Amino acid sequence: MGDVRLTDLSYLRALMARYGIVTKKKYGQNFLVNPSVPERIAEHGCDARCGVLEIGPGVGTLTYELCKRARKVVALEIDETLLPVLRETLGEFDNVKVILRDVLKTDLVKLCEEEFSGCESVRVCANLPYYITTPVLMYLLENGAPFSSVTVMVQREVADRLTARAGSPEYGAITAAVGYFGRAEKLFSVSPGSFLPPPKVESAVVRIDIHENSPYADCDKELFFRLIGAAFGQRRKTLMNTLRGILSEKEREAVMNELSLLGFPRDVRGERLSTDGFAALARAIAAARKNA
Ligand code: SAM
Repeated sequence: MGDVRLTDLSYLRALMARYGIVTKKKYGQNFLVNPSVPERIAEHGCDARCGVLEIGPGVGTLTYELCKRARKVVALEIDETLLPVLRETLGEFDNVKVILRDVLKTDLVKLCEEEFSGCESVRVCANLPYYITTPVLMYLLENGAPFSSVTVMVQREVADRLTARAGSPEYGAITAAVGYFGRAEKLFSVSPGSFLPPPKVESAVVRIDIHENSPYADCDKELFFRLIGAAFGQRRKTLMNTLRGILSEKEREAVMNELSLLGFPRDVRGERLSTDGFAALARAIAAARKNA
């Protein structure tokens, strides 16, 4: 491997100065400078047979570790001023393609078809820009691209939300929503000193293993997400009250019966229900509609 030492502060500062790069807050640019972090993300997030989609390569610190391990890496970067430096830092690899593009405006299904046809699986790895963490996560999960896992650095608070148990203070709509697509696991914590510049918050790396055979394949997806939206839109109300506006009397009756089967009282709040619980309600409502 070449003499690229992106986590060496004096090397990185000199490189950035040479290319006139100043980190941009508006793009959530906090570059990794702790060598063990990109190594561990790459270890947990990819293997020799997989293709990797990276969001936001920055100056290429994580990308470099991904290129060493994966079959192919495609990195989407929004900031065009980083392209010349990436050409230098990733110059030794022939398994990487950097594309100047906003991830949220990218057709990921098409990208996977075009770029990863020879790969056994496609995984996402990223040190996410924190200003758009939730939209990016939901976009990755919802757009239908065949990802088998999503390994991402997020704010620790978000990591705690993604992996929270139903009924805990951290549990929320995002927990139940992500649970619909896969199983989230917190891998390790990362302190602000691991980045240049250091962010104001603690961070953590989370891996979401996407369900291979979804236990929710038989669920009406739209209904499932409407239930979550209603339940967490008015957290302080009982679940039955939050559903008043979106369900008929008959459907609410079906929900009440299902809640009782699940062992919940009729005044339970939505935040006590796991992804499985919301799925059970969606199935019960669908059955009530069929019998109407
Ligand atoms: N991967 C690098 C690292 O770990 O050092 C940089 C990570 S930095 C936290 C986030 C990166 O995402 C930046 O390079 C930023 O320019 C890029 N970015 C921000 N918004 C983006 C978007 N909508 N689409 C693609 N990349 C984006």
